[in-house]
Amino acid sequence: MNSEIFESIIEITRQKDTDSLEYSLAATLAELIDVSEVTLLNVPFKGTPTYFTSELRLTVSIEEGKKRYKWDNQMTNVEIDSDTETVIAHHQPIGIEGDNGYTFYFPIVISDELDSILKISSQHDVLKQSDLINSFIRIYQNYQVILTENERDKLTGLLNRKTFENKLNRLLKPRDETATTSLLSNCWLVMIDIDHFKSVNDNYGHVCGDEILLHLSQLMKDYFINNNLLFRFGGEEFVIILEHMPMEVAIATLQHFRHLVSEFNFPFVGHVTISLGFSQFCIDDFPPSILDQADKALYYAKQHGRNCLYNYEQLIIEGKLTIPQENGSVELF
Ligand code: GH3
Ligand code: MG
Ligand code: MG
Repeated sequence: MNSEIFESIIEITRQKDTDSLEYSLAATLAELIDVSEVTLLNVPFKGTPTYFTSELRLTVSIEEGKKRYKWDNQMTNVEIDSDTETVIAHHQPIGIEGDNGYTFYFPIVISDELDSILKISSQHDVLKQSDLINSFIRIYQNYQVILTENERDKLTGLLNRKTFENKLNRLLKPRDETATTSLLSNCWLVMIDIDHFKSVNDNYGHVCGDEILLHLSQLMKDYFINNNLLFRFGGEEFVIILEHMPMEVAIATLQHFRHLVSEFNFPFVGHVTISLGFSQFCIDDFPPSILDQADKALYYAKQHGRNCLYNYEQLIIEGKLTIPQENGSVELF
């Protein structure tokens, strides 16, 4: 085995979180193989989706004889066509020759489920190197299983608070600095807290409380498209990052979710409600202040009837909250 491949394996197995692992796989393949683009397509696992969400694309160009890499981690929707449907149905790689070269799709299966699809575009028939590609995918799959366990909350399976810290830092500091402005426009940080949860525990017991947390998490997973941005933040507190939504859409989406939860028939207790506070991402934000703002809006919701939703910026405009002189007091990370 040549040293370049060894180096790549060492680099992949050095990664400590699943996002970095994705980057490392894409970078490795772009270095070792003649590709023009590597994309990771997330497979939505509910219902019959018509599109993938893609959060990672690496474009390779040649300038003055050297490979140049451009990263894009803005979430986009990619339509599922008949070719990708085949990959989804049979978990088998396929290659298609088109006017602009070749496109290959390799399934990535984690714990027996199709997790994502690796799309490779190239001017060449890279299937000749499929052994190499498949080996890297297998290393990636094994590592993904181990890292995923560290990143998720044991009870609900949602991402944990530590992962939130990493994701937030990454969102505020993307690899491609030029992408920052567009990346953060219309992104929202949402804090959710179950109303009067203590009385659920007091009246029905802790096990029943856990059951409520499980059901609420499942409602979140079913409702929000991008499961990679749902977090259990603490006991009965959850955080969601909403990307690329105008404010009216964010409000409608969250109000609908709030309503859905209030109508849901939870086991033992019947109806449970949630309060929500949210705040807009801003390029100058530093992580604790975004959280602090969403938390203030949530606190406002708790003070004003619960089972409701407030936006921090709107509360400031309406004079219902004031901008603090110094950064917020929420202790983080
Ligand atoms: P509010 O509407 O103001 O949010 O009232 P609350 O009762 O929900 O708020 P409070 O923060 O006083 O209580 C939160 C409760 O959540 C206290 C704790 O017992 C419970 N809790 C935290 N983590 C867990 C958990 O993992 N499982 C269960 N069953 N309960 C938990
Ligand atoms: Mg709470
Ligand atoms: Mg609560």
